Amino acid sequence: MPPPQSILYTSIGIFLLCLYRDIGISYCRLLLHDTMLLEDAFRTGVSETPVCECGQDRETAEHFLLCCSKYQEARDELKDTVSQVLESAKH
Ligand SMILES: [Zn+2]
Repeated sequence: MPPPQSILYTSIGIFLLCLYRDIGISYCRLLLHDTMLLEDAFRTGVSETPVCECGQDRETAEHFLLCCSKYQEARDELKDTVSQVLESAKH
């Protein structure tokens, strides 16, 4: 039987592999315009409108990731966290 530490590292490795695989799939779907974003859903006939719920623009990947007011708080939190990580790496 492998030591418990080995099992832990294997479990973490499988978790990261799944995590990165999901990120890779999401990234490819964004590149292929095959997402559940309203712009894509409208183009394929799944949605009646391409306009985001915020009403500011069409729900494209760019709008969703960079501009949508619905996710501004999450973007700010991400920016703060990245800034903190970068600052701590300097010391
Ligand atoms: Zn929006």
